Amino acid sequence: MSASLADRMKRVLRADVQGLHGYAVQPSAGMVKVDTMENPFPLPPALRQQLGARLAEVALNRYPAERGDVLRAELAKHAQMPTGCDIMLGNGSDELISLLTLAADVPGNVILAPLPGFVMYELSAKLQGLRFVGVPTTADFQLDAPAMLAAIREHQPAVVWLAYPNNPTANLWDDGAIDAIIEAAPGLVVMDEAYQPFASRDSLARLQRHEHVLLMRTMSKFGLAGVRIGYLIGRAPLIHELDKLRPPFNISVLNCEAALFALEHTDEYERQAAVIRCERARIFEALRALPGVQPFPSEANMVLVRVPDAAAIFAGMKARQVLVKNVSGLHPLLANCLRITVGTPEENTQMLAAFEAALKDTTA
Ligand SMILES: *Cc1c(COP(=O)(O)O)cnc(C)c1O
Repeated sequence: MSASLADRMKRVLRADVQGLHGYAVQPSAGMVKVDTMENPFPLPPALRQQLGARLAEVALNRYPAERGDVLRAELAKHAQMPTGCDIMLGNGSDELISLLTLAADVPGNVILAPLPGFVMYELSAKLQGLRFVGVPTTADFQLDAPAMLAAIREHQPAVVWLAYPNNPTANLWDDGAIDAIIEAAPGLVVMDEAYQPFASRDSLARLQRHEHVLLMRTMSKFGLAGVRIGYLIGRAPLIHELDKLRPPFNISVLNCEAALFALEHTDEYERQAAVIRCERARIFEALRALPGVQPFPSEANMVLVRVPDAAAIFAGMKARQVLVKNVSGLHPLLANCLRITVGTPEENTQMLAAFEAALKDTTA
C-alpha cells in the first residue's frame, strides 16, 4: 500500500513550516484600499502608453541579461551610492531579507531587531532556523537604547535590522541611539529604508562611515509595489558574497524595464510623494481632533493610530468599504492600534468619513 499524500507531507515537510500561518493578503476588491502602503496614484495616461510601448519591445523569450546591470547602475546613481560600495537587486526587498538571512545561517547566529517592527525579519530568521531576538521599543515606539545595547552585548547578533522609518509605527529612530547600536554591533547592521521617499532623514552618511552598515531600499512604496524591485547597498566585497546566493534570474525582464522607465520619470514620482506627505499631515490633524484617538507622528506613507476599540473601528470602516490594517495583535505595544496608508486626497476624505462614523458607532 502506498502512503497517502497527507502522510508523505507529514514525513517530508518541515514540522515548523506545517505549523506556520502563511502571510495573509486581505481581499480588497471594491474597497478603498489603504492597508499595505501602496502608492495610490497610477501613472498619467501618456506615460502609461509609453511604458506599454517599451514593454512590448522586451524580449520575453530571453533570460534576463545585461539590462539588469543597467538597472543596478541607475539605482546606484538614484541612491547616490558611495564609492567602494556595490549594489544587488532583489525580487522586492523581501527577497533580500531572505538572502541575507540565508547568508548568515551559521549555527548559533542570532538576528536582532526592535519590536514592533517589520514581520519579515523574524519570519526569515525562523524559516532559516536562526534565533530571533526582538527588543521592545518604548511605549511611544522609540528605540529603547539601553535595552538594545544590553541585548546586543548578550546575544552578539550577526545581523541587526533597523527599519528607518519603522513599519508599522512610521517613525524615524533617534540618531544617537542608532549610532550607539552601530558602534556596539559585532556583526552587520542593515538600515531598511523602504519609506525613504517620505522621510526627512536617511542613512547615506552612516553607510559611508561604517563598513558593517548596509542600506536596503525598495521601489515598492515609491510606486512600483507590483513590480518587485528591492536593492541592497554595502561594501563591494560583502555584496559580492551575498550576491552568490541570489537566484541568477530573480529580476524579470518586464520588472527590470518597468523600473528603468520609472527612474526616467522620477519627477512624476516625486510629485506623487509630495502629495502623499501633504495628505499625511491632513490625516494626522484630522485624527488628532477626534476624541479618544491618538495618531502617532509619521515619516512614512502611513499613519499609526490608537483608538478606543480597534476591532470595532476596523469592522466599521470595512462595512463602509474602507480597508485598513488592524495591527493590534502584532505586538502588545500595539494594543488597539490601526495602521492607515495615505491614499489619494479623495480616498483620504472617504477614509476619514468612514473612520469618524465607525468611531461614533462604538461610542453611541
Ligand atoms: C514594505 C516593506 C519592505 C518590503 O518591500 P518589498 O515590496 O518586498 O520591496 C521592506 N521593509 C519594510 C520596513 C517594509 O515596510
